[in-house]
Amino acid sequence: MKTSIIGFPRVGEVRELKFATENYFRNEISAEELENKGKELRDKHWKLLVDQGIDFIPSGDFSFFDTTLDAAVLLNIVPKKYQQLKLSPLETYFALARGYQGEAGDVTALAMKKWFNTNYHYMVPEIDDETELKLVGDSLFTAFNEAKKAGIITRPTIIGPFTLLKLATYHGTKQAADFYEDAINAYAQIFDRLVKAGCEWIQIDEPALVLDLSTAEVQQFKQLYQKLLAKKVNLKVLVQTYFGDVRDVYQELIELPFDGIGLDFIEGRKTVSLLEKYGFPKEKLLFAGIVNGKNIWKNNYEVTLTLLEKIQTFGNVVLNTSCSLLHVPFTLANESALTKEVTNYFSFAVEKLAELNDLKKISTDKDGNQAILNANTALFKKERFSKNEQVAQQVDLLTEQDFIRLPVLAERATIQKDKLNLPILPTTTIGSFPQTKEVKQNRAKFKKGEITEREYTAFNQQKIAECVAFQEEIGLDVLVHGEFERNDMVEYFGESLDGYLFTEKAWVQSYGTRCVKPPIIWGDVSRSQPITVAYSKYAQTLTNKPMKGMLTGPVTILNWSFPREDISLRESTLQLALAIQEEVLDLEANGIEIIQIDEAALREKLPLRQTDWHSEYLDWAIPAFRLVHSKVKPTTQIHTHMCYSEFADIIQDIDNMDADVISFEASRSNLDILDALKAIDFQTQVGPGVYDIHSPRVPSVNEIEATIHNILNKLPIEKIWVNPDCGLKTRGVPETEASLKNLVLAAKKVRGGV
Ligand code: GLN
Ligand code: ZN
Repeated sequence: MKTSIIGFPRVGEVRELKFATENYFRNEISAEELENKGKELRDKHWKLLVDQGIDFIPSGDFSFFDTTLDAAVLLNIVPKKYQQLKLSPLETYFALARGYQGEAGDVTALAMKKWFNTNYHYMVPEIDDETELKLVGDSLFTAFNEAKKAGIITRPTIIGPFTLLKLATYHGTKQAADFYEDAINAYAQIFDRLVKAGCEWIQIDEPALVLDLSTAEVQQFKQLYQKLLAKKVNLKVLVQTYFGDVRDVYQELIELPFDGIGLDFIEGRKTVSLLEKYGFPKEKLLFAGIVNGKNIWKNNYEVTLTLLEKIQTFGNVVLNTSCSLLHVPFTLANESALTKEVTNYFSFAVEKLAELNDLKKISTDKDGNQAILNANTALFKKERFSKNEQVAQQVDLLTEQDFIRLPVLAERATIQKDKLNLPILPTTTIGSFPQTKEVKQNRAKFKKGEITEREYTAFNQQKIAECVAFQEEIGLDVLVHGEFERNDMVEYFGESLDGYLFTEKAWVQSYGTRCVKPPIIWGDVSRSQPITVAYSKYAQTLTNKPMKGMLTGPVTILNWSFPREDISLRESTLQLALAIQEEVLDLEANGIEIIQIDEAALREKLPLRQTDWHSEYLDWAIPAFRLVHSKVKPTTQIHTHMCYSEFADIIQDIDNMDADVISFEASRSNLDILDALKAIDFQTQVGPGVYDIHSPRVPSVNEIEATIHNILNKLPIEKIWVNPDCGLKTRGVPETEASLKNLVLAAKKVRGGV
């Protein structure tokens, strides 16, 4: 039996890639130095995989920003406006990823979307009628050759044509299927070149196969691969799926001449029953995803071995992770603050490699490896979660009334209008202001005990005062305190809640150079004291304008934490909702009239198949949000914020969150969402982001004005707010100040004109 992984965290053990890339962005290192760093990391990771006994080692899972973008660039899916900049290949690549503003021109970045049901974001390839899909790049081959030089024959991995073309956006008349012919030729050429380089296996990722597929799409997939696989000579092709089961396409999949098929046994609820129903071809390898690529908990060997025994009756098994290890932190080895008692239960990327190896050893020689199995079994027999009876009881006692806020939205809108006295098109921001070096240093010094709590707080208050003064000076209407005390919108709350655990170095890539460090839910969650009240209250004393209180909502806290697996996600979320409800009421009692409860990650755990959306998720996630604010006074205005644009299909559910105002990302998706809002007569007031904060580009007044006009063409002016599309913490100070000034000026110009 062999072991395999789908991909490895490229950002590095201590985020080396992130720092090198950011140094490059700041012109502190050259392109060559960055390339060398990439090479060094790839090399290190391959060797590590070899050392850990992994048999199938991927290459091509490394990326300077995103592998979907890499595939697009490799295949010449680069819109003209980027090509016309005539930059170096690396600069063009980063122009696609982050936008470009400089001597060569001015372009925005490609859109960015959530990668299936994860918190990873991919760059959305843009295709128009002039796009010429053909093999132009060589990153895949370079990586393969590099590894080969180091004596390692890797399995290059690339996103497959079906998924790539399905995820792309189309600006012309052509659609995905119009590019299949070209894609077949390009991928066939990739096959050829790899074979010539000495490659034996290629891994083609087709995660789109776990989505709901129409019969037409299944046919398209089948024809696409019939033609493509007819062109492979001397190469073995693994089609890799993950994030669910492939129920709509399983029969076609096993009939196609793939040499290996990768199936997910963790999130794929129906994978086993598909095997039982349709069998598995004996001549193919079954890459069985049995080690969870998303959670941080140790694998329960007994359970897995039982599953394996069953799977092995169907075919030749290779032990695999359920998805790329990109979605878990690098290693436990650097976590020195947590006790062994606790870390005993954890498994990050490197430890998951060891688990694969253990499982391989035990399944090949059970007697010889009984000790490994016994230790694992013993661990799972122990009671590990800390319980809080009171919290469990509180959740049990919830009634329908607890989830309903009164009076109804329209009535509240009138009441709040009188109370708050805001202009039309009120301007605001999403909460955070740039996290400068000093801001981060202040937190770091406090954490290390280098400064006193007083010094720490005084610094933050100073920053808040500056931030408030700036907002007043440029004329924003609803102010924020800037979130200087927060490292991360989830970790910050987790730190103040009971039931949470924290890591030091357990970073996971979210997009590009941005990483997050999700806290771990270890026990029942409760709040023992106010979390945000002091800073919000202080900030409010500095201004007569409304100061928004800033909270993170329960669904987002859950979705950006590593959750427990012994109780349901619903139960954990309700525990969180009760804790945040206490915070909301405390803010209100302390004079905060507008409270924003961010649900940036609401969509994250939305099941990939639409049939499961309500029953498995929305039916408890939306009420959990309502629970948080159901008890506030009619005069208190509740805002929420979402980070992504793809919610046209759950728009009614979002309206049902019953917030008074919602802001969301819209600028990168060309405001498509507005039509959806209009179509369902969306009740909540909305602030569609008028510029993209994921890029350092400064939008001009005219540009923002035009965006506001676009919004007003679709929606009634009394419902519109003007704001950036997300928090500003990742941005620099100069670009932030310039952008916000332009935003306020644009709003004023539009107001003047109506
Ligand atoms: N209030 C948060 C901030 O501004 C929201 C962040 C987010 O949506 N990801 O940083
Ligand atoms: Zn956001």
